[in-house]
Amino acid sequence: MEFIKNGKRIDKRLPNELRPIKFEVGALERADGSCYVEHGGNKVMAAVYGPRAVHPRHMQEANRAIIRYRYNMASFSVEERRRPGPDRRSIEISKVSREAIDPVIIKEFYPRSTIDVFVEILQADAGTRSAGINAASVALADAGVPMRGLIASCAVGKVDDTVVLDLVKEEDNFGQADMPVAMDVRTGEISLLQMDGHFTLEEFEEALQLGKEGCTTIAEMQREALVQKYQGEGHE
Ligand code: ADP
Repeated sequence: MEFIKNGKRIDKRLPNELRPIKFEVGALERADGSCYVEHGGNKVMAAVYGPRAVHPRHMQEANRAIIRYRYNMASFSVEERRRPGPDRRSIEISKVSREAIDPVIIKEFYPRSTIDVFVEILQADAGTRSAGINAASVALADAGVPMRGLIASCAVGKVDDTVVLDLVKEEDNFGQADMPVAMDVRTGEISLLQMDGHFTLEEFEEALQLGKEGCTTIAEMQREALVQKYQGEGHE
């Protein structure tokens, strides 16, 4: 498969270009915080409940809140109907996504409580864990959960021996490498880094730098979306 023609990718983007991204803060009324994200062909809803009492109680921690994160792909989110319910992939993504957002949450403020994050993938086109983390991060802020910063995430990869930002499904499935990254761009701390495929050391460094630039752009969009919603309401 030919991925790059005259310097352009299959969806006409440049190698270092993100797909169009849109954040809608507070899209759900019942949740304490929520965010709907469209990231290229991905459509993702994140809902946050809490801080609230932990059930079952034995899971509670005496001096901090616990964070629970459920990533779920709707059965209609992919071309061939996905069997509903958790599978190995969604359990793994839930775990790494929880660990990705965990470092910025000030859990000591809410002992014996839980903060529950639900991420529903309504339409999938590669990079859904990143889109989920971006939505979750904004939904947490919308819920008023105290955070040191926002976590932003995007994938980088390699197709036709070229390092590219933010893969679409064909690039993800049939390319040479796929590496989702999540970070707190204020501190540069990386809280998620996974890799499928192969990079040379130089390509890896180039990819990480490109991922950092992508996350920086996304963090700015997240901040903007929150400011848009809360400006004029007496919030910061
Ligand atoms: P991510 O969505 O974070 O990139 P993967 O690399 O595992 O995670 O998946 C890449 C893409 O492959 C998904 O975004 C989705 O478009 C597609 N995909 C994943 N699981 C399935 C599935 N069970 N059926 C069909 N397509 C899937």
